[in-house]
Amino acid sequence: MNRDKNIRLLSKVSVWDLIVIGGGASGLGAALDAASRGMKVLLIEKYDFSKGTSSKSTKLIHGGVRYLKNAEFKLVRKALHERYILKKNAPHLVQNKDFIIPIYNWINFFFYGIGLRLYDAISGKWSFGSTKFLNKKTTIEHLNSINTKSLKGGIKYKDGQFDDARFAISLAHTIENVGGTVLNYMEYLSPRIENNSINGIIANDKIDQKEFHLSSKYIINATGVFSNKLMMSITSQFKIKASRGTHVVVDRSFLNSQHAIMIPKTIDGRVLFVIPWNNKTLIGTTDEETNEIDIDLKTPLTDIGFILENVKNYLSSPPKKKDIKSVFTGLRPLVSNKDNSSTKELSRAHIIHESDDGIIHMLGGKWTTYRLMGLEAIDCLLKDKTLQFGNSNTSSLRLFGFKDVVDFQDPLHVYGTELKRLKTYGAMVSISNHIFISEAMIAYAIHEEMAINLEDILARRTRCLFIDAKETIKIAPKVAKIMASVLKMDDTWTTKQLDLFLPLASKYII
Ligand SMILES: Cc1cc2nc3c(=O)[nH]c(=O)nc-3n(C[C@H](O)[C@H](O)[C@H](O)COP(=O)(O)OP(=O)(O)OC[C@H]3O[C@@H](n4cnc5c(N)ncnc54)[C@H](O)[C@@H]3O)c2cc1C
Repeated sequence: MNRDKNIRLLSKVSVWDLIVIGGGASGLGAALDAASRGMKVLLIEKYDFSKGTSSKSTKLIHGGVRYLKNAEFKLVRKALHERYILKKNAPHLVQNKDFIIPIYNWINFFFYGIGLRLYDAISGKWSFGSTKFLNKKTTIEHLNSINTKSLKGGIKYKDGQFDDARFAISLAHTIENVGGTVLNYMEYLSPRIENNSINGIIANDKIDQKEFHLSSKYIINATGVFSNKLMMSITSQFKIKASRGTHVVVDRSFLNSQHAIMIPKTIDGRVLFVIPWNNKTLIGTTDEETNEIDIDLKTPLTDIGFILENVKNYLSSPPKKKDIKSVFTGLRPLVSNKDNSSTKELSRAHIIHESDDGIIHMLGGKWTTYRLMGLEAIDCLLKDKTLQFGNSNTSSLRLFGFKDVVDFQDPLHVYGTELKRLKTYGAMVSISNHIFISEAMIAYAIHEEMAINLEDILARRTRCLFIDAKETIKIAPKVAKIMASVLKMDDTWTTKQLDLFLPLASKYII
């Protein structure tokens, strides 16, 4: 992916078939669907791909066991089907993971057992493997850090785990491979209006501060929690509500297992996950309605307290605040059509809505269903048959880096077949003793993955900032220096990068 080349393309293409605004899961899904049908597509993202909610998820490709409680069978079925497709098309990015619900009273064995059997039944031929009941001894063998007091046993079920930001980059690459164009740091400013109708957009290149007037037959708004701002003339029928979700990352020793724990009922009646991730343990998430819509939200201490309080009874030696290596908070975009429902009650289902001005809005949804959302958005805009393109083919489209034999213990598995090429970019020894990041990864991210600044490299091309924020702050000057040498930049550039990155990184520390 080459940003300069794509910027030059902007003055060469007179009319795009489609411009997608927003480079998170939803926008990438729509752009891929359209480009793979042969449409001339441009996707623009104000910051970096997946910088919004799409890099801050729990990293599950799942049907959503908890939605069964609300009898959302259709949503679960769709998501389980998507789980199967995503694993099939991106086996280097989606892994089959064991989740265990520890059981401390016999009624729960029965209750959750039935729920998970139903989950198995709905997944049918798309199953990742069937649910198993474990006795106390086997549960402890699988989860040797579990609190054993009053433990009766466990229920083990299968679901998918992935790396959200790496998945987003693979999608961006795939879009380009099928003929689409993607640009990060390109902000949508306003619609371009001629003869009282919208025929494109005005966008600003945030790197060179240059405005572009772009013509397009269709426009998709995929700006997640920022959608209300962009819903120029949308009917008041729908509104995006934001729900804040926080995760903490602690040392691997707190879980010390390849299996994840699913805590089925938190104080506020939700679920909480304790998951092995990048040689650490990821714990989350919260669900708090908020009006504070910010791309770089600072985590409130109440969220941390909630997570630590809820995980306390399940681990023999639970983490404390001082053990937190990193903390991050994302905002769920949830569709509401009545103002008084709480975000916990709102469905995770998505809505594709065409407003009177012809703009298609992708509202709500989950990472797991990004492909389906993309397909439905493009079907919606092609329904009037003004443009002639075929049906979606993303259900069998392999994603960039596709590799079917994968060692998920290797932190570099996310590159799939690209690892070979990455290694040609420089030294592979890690520059940190705690997180794996090498010169080759930095140079590859700049040359091949449209990484523009220090944050792109440390937060999303690698996941250093999410894995261990303090260590990331320590290595940031070294990484900035390597970037400067790759980009042939001077010390002033390096200092500016650090000045921008360090205040952001401090938000990941508690
Ligand atoms: C805490 C949490 C945990 C979650 N866990 C899971 C999970 O485990 N599995 C799962 O399936 N789903 C999960 N989800 C849901 C999933 O992450 C989201 O549904 C999904 O990432 C939303 O993607 P999006 O593209 O709609 O929004 P975003 O990722 O927020 O993307 C919108 C993009 O639009 C850009 N933008 C905004 N304004 C402009 C503009 N003017 N010009 C250009 N670009 C603009 C933003 O910068 C942003 O990058 C979770 C969500 C949260 C909050």
